[in-house]
Amino acid sequence: MGKEIHTLTDAGATLDPSPAELMARRPYLTADPVCGLVLEDVPLNAIADAEGTPVWVMSAGVLRERARRLLAAVKDSGLPLSVHFAVKSNDHLAVLRILALEGLGADVVSGGEFARACRAGISPRRVIFSGVGKTDSELDAALMAGVAQINVESAEELEILSSRASNLGCSAGVALRVNPDVDAGTHEKITTGLAGNKFGIPYAEALALYRRAYELPGIKPLGFATHIGSQISSPVPFRQAYARIASLVRDARAAGLPVEIVDCGGGLGVSYRDETECSPDAFVGAIRRELGDLDVQLAMEPGRWISAPAGMLLSSVILRKSVTGGAPFIVIDAAMNDLARPSLYDAWHGLLPLAPHLLHADIEPAHLVGPVCESGDSFGRNRLLPHLSRGDRIALLDCGAYGSVMSSTYNARPFAAQVLVDGNRWSVIRPRQKVEELWTTEQMPEWLMPEPASEAG
Ligand SMILES: *Cc1c(COP(=O)(O)O)cnc(C)c1O
Repeated sequence: MGKEIHTLTDAGATLDPSPAELMARRPYLTADPVCGLVLEDVPLNAIADAEGTPVWVMSAGVLRERARRLLAAVKDSGLPLSVHFAVKSNDHLAVLRILALEGLGADVVSGGEFARACRAGISPRRVIFSGVGKTDSELDAALMAGVAQINVESAEELEILSSRASNLGCSAGVALRVNPDVDAGTHEKITTGLAGNKFGIPYAEALALYRRAYELPGIKPLGFATHIGSQISSPVPFRQAYARIASLVRDARAAGLPVEIVDCGGGLGVSYRDETECSPDAFVGAIRRELGDLDVQLAMEPGRWISAPAGMLLSSVILRKSVTGGAPFIVIDAAMNDLARPSLYDAWHGLLPLAPHLLHADIEPAHLVGPVCESGDSFGRNRLLPHLSRGDRIALLDCGAYGSVMSSTYNARPFAAQVLVDGNRWSVIRPRQKVEELWTTEQMPEWLMPEPASEAG
């Protein structure tokens, strides 16, 4: 180990972390000379032998460690700050259960996620319901269950919510999600806090709408929320956004409108390749500096930071397709229908071979692709990888967030199995979908049914 790995991108050569560097930053992974790559105390080959590939593997230990680090930073700050896991990053019931037992609430963006959070044992009183368009039935279900807070994203939604809550004879705790018009400096598809994004209420209109909220039946105005995007590594955009929210809180109070809460959103970035990870202390520090003296109840909604490092996707090489005069294509049995992030966001995921000898092997450029019939089905061009042959297994790292939740069955590829590792134990938490299960819920219109076979003679 210790060799430098380069990615020769089309724009030129850039340095990729070596397997040794990838592992050094991920202490839950170790290399055993006999069994190869080990997650916590479980050899990943044992999982692949038993369950086949592709298979998602989540680490309970990493989930707990991440949750505890966040909670420790909160405790150190002394702030009244609650942590609500963003369910959309990984909505498996076992994941939600682990985090609920650590004391986290939930941030949900649909009725389905709300139901999942409740099913995992998270009290509706600890759930924040976000999202730019909630249907009447989603709102009604959340209101009837006693959801703690609904983040409203438009004047129109506020009126709708008022009428739904009045009909049900209840009162909705509301925070207005404000778009602070701050550039989070992240990928355009995951930036949400710029004017022109579909998210949130324009900053200049927020105060008037907050006043309106006080006039509406069925609405209990609580305060303001913001969420400026995802995979943010610098505390600077967070501080800019929170400073704007702080002045909104002061303006509202000056206008005689009480403000009890500020919801600071999520978006804390992780290190997939060589990005600086957003430290919990830096994030909580940004909150403390800008909002700490406002005497409000605070909340945050991290997703990726907790779940991304806890997951990986194991895959096997189907074949190695040589190209005359160029790097070969390594075709693996995982594809964009399993892990969409590379094709969707040009995401880079670290790769480690599972076999012990491959962890130390020489490296060579190769294009890593899935079998789906789309040119976009690629996990990276010119990745420098050990010489991979048919049957070799690899782990795609940091797939715990926006991984399995974005899977589809495109190309009639069944959903991959999911496994949870916890210390030296592991368990299947979702069996591999069977091909026949792809169509069990499909129905054939009666007029397309085959004619009953006519009797011979
Ligand atoms: C997606 C989302 C989050 C979580 O974002 P991460 O980048 O995963 O931390 C939090 N709040 C809201 C409103 C979101 O839409």
